[in-house]
Amino acid sequence: MIDFLDDEILNDMVLEAKKYTKYGVVADYIPALGEANPETLSIAIYRGNKNYVAAGNIREKFTLQSISKVIILAVALMDHGEEYVFSRVGMEPTGDPFNSIAKLETNIPSKPLNPMINAGALAVTNMIIGESTAEKLGRILSLIHEMTGNTEITYCERVAKSELETAFLNRSLCYFMKQHGVVRGEVEELLDLYTKQCAIEVDCYDLAKLGYVIANEGKNPVTDRQIIPLHITRILKTFMVTCGMYNSSGEFAIKVGIPSKSGVSGSIMCSVPHGVGIGIYGPSLDDRGNSVAGMKLLEGLSSRYNLSIF
Ligand code: GLU
Repeated sequence: MIDFLDDEILNDMVLEAKKYTKYGVVADYIPALGEANPETLSIAIYRGNKNYVAAGNIREKFTLQSISKVIILAVALMDHGEEYVFSRVGMEPTGDPFNSIAKLETNIPSKPLNPMINAGALAVTNMIIGESTAEKLGRILSLIHEMTGNTEITYCERVAKSELETAFLNRSLCYFMKQHGVVRGEVEELLDLYTKQCAIEVDCYDLAKLGYVIANEGKNPVTDRQIIPLHITRILKTFMVTCGMYNSSGEFAIKVGIPSKSGVSGSIMCSVPHGVGIGIYGPSLDDRGNSVAGMKLLEGLSSRYNLSIF
């Protein structure tokens, strides 16, 4: 039972998993991410009602990167419903890397395979309702504020700018999709919003709470208010299982078996169904883009506390 897990046991598990940081590298294709300390590993596990255990420097901030894909999918589904959203983005996993352009050409009609790869997330970001980028970003942040109870959360301008200046591949994905009618409007405006949403800054505690709300069937952990409809949290968890860990999702399902989403900042958000959220930060990444030590830590936790959903 994960209820028996305490800070001391967790700290020992973190120290053990930390040894694996040396087998990875920090992402530097977004220049600002390259400044992270590869030896860092921290984790917060939120069990509801302000009950949490933690190890490492859990107040250290990092950017959501791909984890934002789960949040914007929730916003788009709440804005438009399933039928519309899935007319512009698919539901199928891909064995390709997160930023691949290949399937856009070979998958006919050329909509992106799923919302957890960059092409799919760009298409979903393009659906967010609002008059301006600021309003759209404000709506994404409002949901995050309500899920975490932390209204201070905002985006890191430096990381957003660093990505926008170097987002050549994402620009190509957008123009390709614009040609095929999947993306509409100004590509630069879309990239501006996308890079800002990816640069939303949180700490492990915030991340654990985000994961918790999805695990807790969309309900606010303190007020019990339904923030995200139940059926949408099911969709989010399903994508987290089938596509959340890039092209390692199958192996991760076998070894860990917890609905999870990772980001190239080295973050992982997990939603253990019915009420445990986990937030991890370990910027040393494997060749698929997942936190090496973070994955090891999750493997240990899952087997020790029987957390696999399968
Ligand atoms: N902002 C990143 C990108 O588009 C997110 C990628 C990720 O975390 O997987 O390249």
